[in-house]
Amino acid sequence: MKCLKDFKEDIHKCSKCGLCQKACPIYQVTGNDCTVSRGQFIMLKGIIRGELKMTPVINRYLDICLKCGACSKYCPSGIDAVDIIVAAKHEYFKNSLKEKCLSFIKKTTLFGILPDIANIFSPKAKSKKFNKKVIYFGGCNAKAQGNRTVVKLLNKLEIEVITPNFPCCGISMFSSGDLASYRQSIKKYINVLKKYDIKEIVTTCASCEKTIKDYVKWCENNEDKNFLSEIKIKNIFEYIRENQLKIKLKTPIKATFHKPCNINNMEDIDWILNNTENLEYVHMKDFDKCCGLNGLFQIKEQKIMKSLFKNKRNNILNSGAKIVLTSCQGCEVALKSYSKGKYKVYDLLNFLWKNSVK
Ligand code: SF4
Ligand code: SF4
Repeated sequence: MKCLKDFKEDIHKCSKCGLCQKACPIYQVTGNDCTVSRGQFIMLKGIIRGELKMTPVINRYLDICLKCGACSKYCPSGIDAVDIIVAAKHEYFKNSLKEKCLSFIKKTTLFGILPDIANIFSPKAKSKKFNKKVIYFGGCNAKAQGNRTVVKLLNKLEIEVITPNFPCCGISMFSSGDLASYRQSIKKYINVLKKYDIKEIVTTCASCEKTIKDYVKWCENNEDKNFLSEIKIKNIFEYIRENQLKIKLKTPIKATFHKPCNINNMEDIDWILNNTENLEYVHMKDFDKCCGLNGLFQIKEQKIMKSLFKNKRNNILNSGAKIVLTSCQGCEVALKSYSKGKYKVYDLLNFLWKNSVK
């Protein structure tokens, strides 16, 4: 299993230029180098050399990291900070009973039984049959919200949607450093996919998309790696743009958009926001800054998280829109949690489906 020492060379590549500080939403609140990749790499170097021990204080800094990957996008050395921070989290996780209990509770309840129960009552649609087929990976939150939107929209494009019952993508286990459970998610995903002769997957959750795309990096078995590398994973917005599906809203609506960290390019969503008839799209300042989803679980770090939430909330209010659209169910939960009734948050796809002319 890949461990912190395997990232020694990557950590060594850090030139300490500090560009990650500009991109990191946590650093901008704390101003503390230990909360951004540059400072974390210095600590982790000390651990690898045996000069430092993996203490609860260092673990706390690893936990504060939102695993949003914004720092890596600006890093001139091309370091994937999230992989390194997760490998470091794993070092702490291995020896911490408390972390193991927390991870067990999260994976069995929040990302286990609760979405499964909600799924029983969620609105579902049976797909029509077409020659072109695609598999839908909805994720836990989509399980609760049902598959109706995706099925109906893609059926309009004459695409049949296969909706297997996937388990959670494992993002929470990954962030907690519980890599053994995360790898079980990979195995379950492969077992489900092997039942179908379809190599294309669409997702509606940016976090699930990033997580399942990264499976190939963390998978240890070569046969599984080869299988995973043949699967094409696309966000549904690529599908809409590729098929030039023009949407028209029933009435004029003004809305802004929050970009989830795990969306790498905005071209597809921009195309939809700018080509939907009757939608007045207004740009929000720092629309691409993390919503702080991971922060919802950081009970110990309320001060930092509140500041992060406040900035995002102010930017939403200053945009003048009363509606915020996003494309990650995790972001949706976070943005709603601090709305205080001043704005409404909708999943972009759901919003388009519910408000568009039939
Ligand atoms: S941007 Fe990359 S190279 Fe520069 S300090 Fe941050 S982690 Fe190091
Ligand atoms: S992953 Fe996000 S929160 Fe973590 S150090 Fe990088 S920019 Fe900061």
